[in-house]
Amino acid sequence: MRVPMIAGNWKMNTTVGEAIELVNKMRQGLDQIDNVEKVLCPPFISLAAVKELIEGSSIKLGAQNIYFEEKGAYTGEISPLMLADLCEFVIIGHSERRQYFNETGEMIDKKVKAALKVGLKPILCIGERLEENEAGRTEEVLTKQLSSSSDRIYYFSGLILAYEPIWAIGTGRAATGEQANETIGFIRQYISKRYGKRVAQDVCILYGGSVTADNISEFINQPEIDGALVGGASLKADQFLRIVKQTSEIKGHLSEEG
Ligand code: PEP
Repeated sequence: MRVPMIAGNWKMNTTVGEAIELVNKMRQGLDQIDNVEKVLCPPFISLAAVKELIEGSSIKLGAQNIYFEEKGAYTGEISPLMLADLCEFVIIGHSERRQYFNETGEMIDKKVKAALKVGLKPILCIGERLEENEAGRTEEVLTKQLSSSSDRIYYFSGLILAYEPIWAIGTGRAATGEQANETIGFIRQYISKRYGKRVAQDVCILYGGSVTADNISEFINQPEIDGALVGGASLKADQFLRIVKQTSEIKGHLSEEG
């Protein structure tokens, strides 16, 4: 049974002081909800401080990126080994990294493998651009993104997928629950054909793109959607808490049964 998950991607926001303040505002409320996986993904420089603050709670920690080499002359990069001690999850292949930092399918595949090798759980982001969506090419684009990944079955058993239509990220123009459910259903079918029904049934697939406390229920009520990757709304303690609470009310029983 898939455990519902809400992950907050803080992107390049918050100083260390602000990160501490934000966690302090939501730590207690989040910790009280135990039937949803709650993951905070602050900037690298705040990981250690946030780790200390959530120690002993049910809140999990994630990074927003990773490099695929273990160590060496890669100025400014952060390796899987460095993160393995600090957090459990890592966002890989976010559309902002594909767009602004020219990350290719091949690089993203290497990052996912490098993360899995040290026991980090990747949250692999995929999604189509507006013009691709309007041209009816969503499934083609997603298939390409999924198939640039490794052929090994362990790969899909070890990760979380986030379907994030690029036109919905940070725009206030979320997909509808039905649209997202249909596309995530397609992703699950693709995995089923390639890796088998069991792997497809077990993989947790999130929706991401302008999720707020006002629209989360629309997504969580859909059978294929296991949770959300939340950007902007994860920077507001009350919004994020309301998102997690509603997820718990609508889908929390799944993790209790499982
Ligand atoms: C994201 O950054 O992954 C995201 C979905 O952002 P937002 O919720 O702000 O659209």
